[in-house]
Amino acid sequence: MTTTVTLTGTGVPFPSAERAGPGVLVSHDDVHLQIDAGRSTLMRLTAAGISPHQLSALLLTHLHSDHVSDVADLAHTRWVQDHLHGTGPLPVVAADGHAPDFLRRALTANAYDVEVRMQHVQKAPPEVDGHWFALPDTPAEVWRSPCGRVGVQAVRVRHEPVEQAVGYRITTPDGVVVVSGDTRVCEEVAALSAGADVVVHEACRSSALAEFVEGTPFETIFSYHADTVELGAMAERVGVPHLVLTHLIPEPTSPDQVAAYEADVRRGGFRGRLSVGHDLLTVTLPAGAAPADGGTGPSGASGRVTAPDGGRR
Ligand SMILES: [Zn+2]
Ligand SMILES: [Zn+2]
Repeated sequence: MTTTVTLTGTGVPFPSAERAGPGVLVSHDDVHLQIDAGRSTLMRLTAAGISPHQLSALLLTHLHSDHVSDVADLAHTRWVQDHLHGTGPLPVVAADGHAPDFLRRALTANAYDVEVRMQHVQKAPPEVDGHWFALPDTPAEVWRSPCGRVGVQAVRVRHEPVEQAVGYRITTPDGVVVVSGDTRVCEEVAALSAGADVVVHEACRSSALAEFVEGTPFETIFSYHADTVELGAMAERVGVPHLVLTHLIPEPTSPDQVAAYEADVRRGGFRGRLSVGHDLLTVTLPAGAAPADGGTGPSGASGRVTAPDGGRR
């Protein structure tokens, strides 16, 4: 058995033909957890071989639109297809506060579609199975798979003025995966990452581009994202074996620009395994294991990454 971590989207609000909105799929056996659902998540999930009815839960890090713009599509498509699969409403795990209202509005936006489909095939209106948790200052378990083998912890992160922002730590029998969500480099994610095998962290070239953004709105935007140099220092201090960068600001569109991200993180002191994310990049745990199907992994993409050397150093 293996665990796979697939980036379903590595983009940001700026539209990109190459990068879907933010999202990560963590799969172990028949447990499939989607963290965030930005633009085109459903298409990337389909490319990864996962349909909405197969998701065990959707975990939301926060409600910035780039992270949730495909939530309605996921939940609604699962409802439209439920007569085929019968898996019921999509379980959604999120910090309590704005999330229940957001989900309610997202589902009711399609009221006319619901009305006419219920005259046809669907028997009841769409809903989600909400698992709302109190914002935790220290890591706290917020979900566990019915089989008991996959657990999820959450902790609040630093994305102010967004207060209800969390990162997740997912533990499977194969290892530990951390997904930072949107945050500055912070002690909360550092603590969450201790002992993790893979840390998927948002990345922003704040210090490298400081002089170019000074005095512009981008200076403000950069201030609540994770500076790549600081991130390298944090990951080294914590001993992260494999750091995967996502939510890339700005989008790297050439090998040189990818290398600039790597150089920033190395300048911060990080010596572990480093991947600059692209859509459908897949990491397999335990490091060095072949995917469960013995094939190309759920992505079916050339971006599959394994760590045959066990990772670090
Ligand atoms: Zn955000
Ligand atoms: Zn974002």
